[in-house]
Amino acid sequence: MDFNDTPDEAVFRAQVRDWLETHATRRQRRDEKFGDGLDREAYLAAAKAWQATKAAAGYAAIPWPKEMGGLGGSPAMQVVYAQEEAKFLVPGLIFEVSLGTALPTVAMWGTPEQKARNLAPALKGDHIWCQLFSEPAAGSDLGNVRTRAEKVGDEWVINGQKVWTSGAHNADYGILLARTDWDQPKAKGLTMFILDMKAPGVDVRLIRQATDEPHFNEVFLTDVRIADSARLGPEGQGWKVMLSTLMQERFSLGENFSGDLYDQLVDLAKQAQWGGRPAIEDRCVRAGIADAYIRQFGVDLIVRRGMSAISKGVSPGPEMAAVKLIGARAFQTGGALAVELGGAEGLIAASDLGQQWRMPQMLWISGPGARIAGGTDEIQKNTIAERVLGLPGEIRTDRDVPFRTLEG
Ligand SMILES: Cc1cc2nc3c(=O)[nH]c(=O)nc-3n(C[C@H](O)[C@H](O)[C@H](O)COP(=O)(O)OP(=O)(O)OC[C@H]3O[C@@H](n4cnc5c(N)ncnc54)[C@H](O)[C@@H]3O)c2cc1C
Repeated sequence: MDFNDTPDEAVFRAQVRDWLETHATRRQRRDEKFGDGLDREAYLAAAKAWQATKAAAGYAAIPWPKEMGGLGGSPAMQVVYAQEEAKFLVPGLIFEVSLGTALPTVAMWGTPEQKARNLAPALKGDHIWCQLFSEPAAGSDLGNVRTRAEKVGDEWVINGQKVWTSGAHNADYGILLARTDWDQPKAKGLTMFILDMKAPGVDVRLIRQATDEPHFNEVFLTDVRIADSARLGPEGQGWKVMLSTLMQERFSLGENFSGDLYDQLVDLAKQAQWGGRPAIEDRCVRAGIADAYIRQFGVDLIVRRGMSAISKGVSPGPEMAAVKLIGARAFQTGGALAVELGGAEGLIAASDLGQQWRMPQMLWISGPGARIAGGTDEIQKNTIAERVLGLPGEIRTDRDVPFRTLEG
């Protein structure tokens, strides 16, 4: 296993770095963040403008074929780009679902017409997409989806509720998983659709989080009509389409967990005073920082292992579940240590303490969410147990019976 860039990747990294130096501002401090002080509309406009700039240079969707607006590069090049971009002050997150999972799914399963209509505007940042899978009774087990899609003529009539839909309040379109056949077993009666988020009957309600940032939503769907031409993939194949969406998340691994929490903790521990001395001199603090370092380094190594697989054109294996399992927990415990370093002031909102405290406090508050989003800790452990360690799978009694009989 070779963790270094291949010669081609090294050339691409240098090219990307040059381009970013010209088109963006390099981050001067670790705690610097794009868009502080911008309201939602201004941030959205800046994010769209940055996306258009990237699209014009071919960096909006690096692995996509040129005829679809990409660069025709490898997934490894995409990860290289993300690693370099993370060093610059650019708007983040708005297009994470659009380009990370929703549009790749449209690219994979869409009809030529669906691709022609949807890919280019999303790449340029004109359209934002979201992912409507989870429901109040369907999260870890998406086979429980109860949102109903009934065929009426050449349309589908949708009724149901989705929840935890990231970015739905900004989204123009979404990919929607719904049940079209209640007599099939749970995973077999599902179909995927492209939903126009502005269609009559779509009611998006923002859920404000503990971080006080708007992130996700409840989405109520009442008699929403979707043309059959907006069905994504064959009827009854929604499970397969959904699995390919979730697979895309593995390719974003380089972006998410190669942060610099350890360095931030060292900085904060040098600044914080405990008993008249810098906190960095305290044995417990040093042990906590060492723990953060070990976890971060371990996660980085697994990410590099995934990168190495991607470089060879192979999909990263199920061991990538450990990245999220360990990484999300490391963020949470590292964030908790940072809050402790603040002493009594750790209880004060980070915005009142200074920018350098904001990031770790956000990590601490959003840590529990990170351990749930995209598959909970327990689901990651199941993956590692069954697919890495070869332990027997969970006993399932609901796999082969009609979904209708499972409804309580
Ligand atoms: C920040 C964030 C963003 C999100 N964004 C989106 C989005 O954009 N679109 C979307 O569709 N969803 C989104 N989600 C939803 C997310 O995918 C679900 O929350 C997640 O899959 C867990 O589902 P649940 O909340 O229904 O919990 P449940 O599945 O009900 O789980 C409850 C508890 O039971 C445990 N559990 C469940 N099954 C098992 C099992 N088989 N073995 C052991 N333990 C088990 C879980 O680990 C958990 O502790 C988001 C969630 C978060 C936190």
